[in-house]
Amino acid sequence: MGAAEDEVVQLTSELIQIDSSNTGELETTTGEAEAAAYVDAKLREVGYGTEIVESGAPGRHNAFCRLPGADSSRPALLVHGHLDVVPFTAEDWSVHPLSGAVQDGYVWGRGAVDMKDMDAMILALARQFRAEGVVPPRDLVFAFLADEEAGGAYGSHWLAEHRPDLFAGCSEALGEVGGFSVTLGEDLRVYPVMTAEKSIAWMRLRVRSRPGHGSMVHDENAVTILAEAVARLGRHRFPLVLTESVQGFFDEITALTGIEFPTESAAALDGAVAKLGGVARVVGATTRDTANPTMLSAGYKANVIPAVAEATVDCRVLPGRQEAFERELDEILGPDVEREWIRNLPAVETAFSGDLVDTMTAAVQAEDPGCHTLPYMMSGGTDAKAFEKLGMRCFGFAPLRLPPDLDFTALFHGTDERVPVDALHFGTRVLERILRTC
Ligand SMILES: [Zn+2]
Repeated sequence: MGAAEDEVVQLTSELIQIDSSNTGELETTTGEAEAAAYVDAKLREVGYGTEIVESGAPGRHNAFCRLPGADSSRPALLVHGHLDVVPFTAEDWSVHPLSGAVQDGYVWGRGAVDMKDMDAMILALARQFRAEGVVPPRDLVFAFLADEEAGGAYGSHWLAEHRPDLFAGCSEALGEVGGFSVTLGEDLRVYPVMTAEKSIAWMRLRVRSRPGHGSMVHDENAVTILAEAVARLGRHRFPLVLTESVQGFFDEITALTGIEFPTESAAALDGAVAKLGGVARVVGATTRDTANPTMLSAGYKANVIPAVAEATVDCRVLPGRQEAFERELDEILGPDVEREWIRNLPAVETAFSGDLVDTMTAAVQAEDPGCHTLPYMMSGGTDAKAFEKLGMRCFGFAPLRLPPDLDFTALFHGTDERVPVDALHFGTRVLERILRTC
């Protein structure tokens, strides 16, 4: 067992014990500095010159180091993980979410799969390479980041905007979410590589109209106009659109299993996707844009018709669909509804091809002979959105070989989040192969 494989479980456990819950509020998000200091100390211990960078607000700390490669004329590879986690309700768990307990073959706790597992693999390999004098084929930039779980405004997006020098020369990025095995049949495993993400587009709708007395006839009520528009939008089904990543996913699954993915109707496609088990949750949301109303607000007294009514809608748009999506939105909403983006982080997509994809495939096949890789799109968003802005091709591949019956996607942000110990060892070996041959 290599040095990294030897310590990866302990590093995962210790990272989990640092409470880096990201509440989305600056005042109450506090643990990232401690997590970054932990990583920084581990890196300095083996001789790295490291940098801690504060990204836009006190305590939002990120840790960086660089390992020079054999060929400095080649572009560097960014290997990144986020140090924050989503909050938890400890009472719901069977072990304390900050325990980092190692029991029953798992490491337990918040962040075990999102993504202190990958942080620990990256950290362990960074340490091993430095300690053993391993020279990777090209420069590796290791980044441990703040604020991914709230969208990265105080993490990756701030860094991309204010400190692009940290990523100088990086042409590709390797991070979450992908690389976990999906079992399709007896000894048939695939490892999805994330090559695309939908946008995160939060929209405010507003209707301004004539206020009035609640007792009188009034046919321009802002609440009524808004409610009708929200209902139309909430019930609307956007068209099926299969981008390259999603089509590539379906094609590969069909080739391996014979499952067909008919596209003549959304219902037929959804039915086929449902056969994929837990991963259907993610894949099902990547075949069309979605717009889900999530908040409503209007009025201040029962007998006053307000002048303004507002709603918030969570929109997730496919790569290449933004303009068409907005045209469709305007048709549905009509002329009386104003709309604005509260947050709009664009969709990203890169091709499932090239040397790094081949490297990832060869690495995982060396550790799990006969397995396959395939592209897929995330329905959510990650730090990849920030690095894509800097011109990098972004891939999500945090390798884990999982037991076939583990409902892995339910563990993300879920109760009893945990990662198999042997999957951490497996992932470290795969990642080592990738970083040695990238
Ligand atoms: Zn994550």
